[in-house]
Amino acid sequence: MNLLEFQDRFADEDSCESYLIQWRWPDGYVCEACGSKEAWYMSARRSFECSYCHHQRSITADTLFHASHTSLQEWFLALYLVTESKKGISALELAHHLGMKDSRRAARMKKRIQEAMTMRNEHYLLQGFVELDEAVFTEAGENTNVLVAVSLEEETGHPKYVRFQVVENMKAATLESAAVRLIDPSSDIATDAHPSHNNLGEHFNEHIPCKQEKPSDAALYLPWVHVLISNAKRFINGTHHAVNHLQGYLEEFSWRFNRRFCNLFNRMIVASISYKPAYRLQ
Ligand SMILES: [Zn+2]
Repeated sequence: MNLLEFQDRFADEDSCESYLIQWRWPDGYVCEACGSKEAWYMSARRSFECSYCHHQRSITADTLFHASHTSLQEWFLALYLVTESKKGISALELAHHLGMKDSRRAARMKKRIQEAMTMRNEHYLLQGFVELDEAVFTEAGENTNVLVAVSLEEETGHPKYVRFQVVENMKAATLESAAVRLIDPSSDIATDAHPSHNNLGEHFNEHIPCKQEKPSDAALYLPWVHVLISNAKRFINGTHHAVNHLQGYLEEFSWRFNRRFCNLFNRMIVASISYKPAYRLQ
């Protein structure tokens, strides 16, 4: 969908509301209190009222748009811009496109969007053959360690999905517990032969340490994890200067990469509906 088509499709608040309703209740609205399917829509309150028990339900409650003063039209445009721009979009640019004088509001929207993406990422564990390595990213001028895992297609050896996890240190126990959060136990894990990875075999089907003659060989043994690390750095450093919430940006990068063959705007609507307002990005 190009920008003109987007603006045409979501020209007003009503069209955004119907789209959200269609995704949230694909089989028609059902009252959560009594199960009745008979309800009327009160557009002034953006709510359904059950015609049987009169229970009311806001269409934005318990979604990304929960209790937000921003219109759905602005939210939809923000979701469109964040998902469409291949290089990512900063809060400042977002504020500019949405005509917001206060970029802090755009920054809060951007953070919520990253939280929604993170919640979706956390739904999936990497599986199969997985390359695992550590990288150093810069966060607010400081170096931060990140564990990076990429699962590969069995037939082609091409990357399938990627996950990143900021870690406090490079101790074996820290890296192991981060790896377990990202990767399914049935997987085979290839790593460099760093001593911190010695016990990985206890958590996964198999650990394949690739001993390198020299550090520059790392890209030969674990090619895709290194490609994804440099792509993620380019994505983050290119748009988002002085990042001080690295995990959120890594989640944004991996959410996009893992859905690169999908309609990202619609995936983002799904993420918006599954959002839990109480969730906070670590
Ligand atoms: Zn009811």
